[in-house]
Amino acid sequence: MVHVGIGYDVHQLVAGRKLVLGGVEIPHPKGLDGHSDADALMHAICDAVLGALGEEDIGHFFPNTDPRWKGVPSKTFLAEAARIVALRNGKIVNVDATLIAQAPKVYPYIAEMKRRIAAALDVSEKQIGVKATTNELMGFIGREEGIAAMAVASVNLPE
Ligand code: MG
Repeated sequence: MVHVGIGYDVHQLVAGRKLVLGGVEIPHPKGLDGHSDADALMHAICDAVLGALGEEDIGHFFPNTDPRWKGVPSKTFLAEAARIVALRNGKIVNVDATLIAQAPKVYPYIAEMKRRIAAALDVSEKQIGVKATTNELMGFIGREEGIAAMAVASVNLPE
């Protein structure tokens, strides 16, 4: 039976941090603040996969109070979510995600993001959708105070 999960994440843009989205480091004067590499796109996807399993969220599995997760690349979290899918004898059918960022322009990096997300989840790139939009200059995203991402994942699980 195919199960669907949803994920959402947002991080603040601050000076002095690298900007990592979908596992790709993108040149930008600011980066996302957080305990790990703060890759909002991978975090949203992780929550979507965990949600499809009916599991608790990324903060439960990888609490930001745990020094083990400090500065780690978020592909670690995706790989762990994929491992939990496999433990349940499930298969990821597809993932689709939207990045909401006023700047920088992420289009040139989307193909590489898909490759890295697919590699972390151990699926084909064809199973991964990544799209991006601005927030039309409105709100905190429009003012470049933060970047958000939303994702859905479908997972085929035995009855
Ligand atoms: Mg996060």
